[in-house]
Amino acid sequence: MNIIDYRLNIRPLNIFIDPQFPVEKALITHAHADHARPGNGKVLATKETIEIMKLRYGNNCAGSFQSIKYGEKIKINDINITFFPAGHILGSAQILIENEGYKTLVTGDYKTIDDCISEPFELVKCDTLITEATFGLPIFQHPNAKDEIKKILHSINENKDSVHLIGCYALGKAQRIIYLLRNAGYEKTIYIHGALEKICDYYKNQKISLGKLEKVSNLENFKNNIVLAPPSALRDKWSRKFKNIIACQASGWLSIKQRVKQNQIEIPLIISDHADWTALTETIINSSAKRIWVTHGNEEGLVYWIKKKGLDAQPLSIQGRGEDRD
Ligand SMILES: [Zn+2]
Ligand SMILES: [Zn+2]
Repeated sequence: MNIIDYRLNIRPLNIFIDPQFPVEKALITHAHADHARPGNGKVLATKETIEIMKLRYGNNCAGSFQSIKYGEKIKINDINITFFPAGHILGSAQILIENEGYKTLVTGDYKTIDDCISEPFELVKCDTLITEATFGLPIFQHPNAKDEIKKILHSINENKDSVHLIGCYALGKAQRIIYLLRNAGYEKTIYIHGALEKICDYYKNQKISLGKLEKVSNLENFKNNIVLAPPSALRDKWSRKFKNIIACQASGWLSIKQRVKQNQIEIPLIISDHADWTALTETIINSSAKRIWVTHGNEEGLVYWIKKKGLDAQPLSIQGRGEDRD
C-alpha cells in the first residue's frame, strides 16, 4: 500500500520529501532551491546535497543533518529508505520507500543521460512511481549536449572580436557547460560571474576538472573570451561592461523558438539537466510501476499519455516548484 500522501509526506513516519515549508523531519533529493529549503529540523540527504545546502544557506540551515550514501538502506520503524543516483546534479538522488515489500519511488529531478559530472541515473523498479515532468510534452526532445556546445566554439572562431556571454544557472548547469567546453577542447580561461564562484569551487573540490576559471573583474578585456553568468545578469546592468556581446543561454526550454526570441538569445544551447519526453516515458515504462503520480512540470500531458498505456496516473500539483531550474 502507498504510504506517501500528495504533499510527499511518508505518513507513518511524518517525514516529508523536499518539503515546501519547514518541517521536523525531511528527506532532500537535491540542493536546488525549489527542493532544498532552509529551516527544517532533521535533514537526511547525500553528503553533497548537505554540503551544497550549507554553502548556500549557512551551516545552521537545519537543526541537524544526517548523510546517506547511494544504495545504503536506512530502516525507520520497519520502513526502508534508500537513495539512488538521479543524474541531475552533484549529489542528486531518487528516494525509494519500502513498506512491507511495497515500493514507492520519488524521482526528484532526474536525467537519464550521463553528464560525467554527477553520479549516473540508476533505474529503480517500483510499484508506485512519483515522477517529475518538467519536460512532459512530446515537443521536448533534447539534442546531444556535445553538439550543442560546438555552436559556441564555432561562433568563437567566426567572431574573434566578440565576447560570448552564456546565461546558465549557478548550480549544476554552469559546471556542466564548463565541463562540456573543456571536453570539446576549449582550454582558455573561462570567466565567471561572482554568483557562480562558490559552487564552481565546490565542484572542483569534488575532483571535477573544470580547468582554469576566473571571476570577472572590471579591468579585463574580454574580447574573444567566454563569460558565464546567471541568466538574469545577461539582462541587467552588470553585462554593460562588455562590448560586442553575443548572447547565449543554456536551457531545455530553448527548444521553444518563442523563448529564444523573448530572451533575445543569439545562440540558444538546448542543454538540460532534466529528462526529456523520451526519457520520461521510457523511465515510466521501465520502472514497471502500475501507478504513477506526476509532479512539477507538464503534468497533464504526461498523465494523458500514461493513462493511454492502461496505467493508473494522477497529477500531483506541488506549489512552488518552478520551471526555472532547468
Ligand atoms: Zn533540480
Ligand atoms: Zn526541480
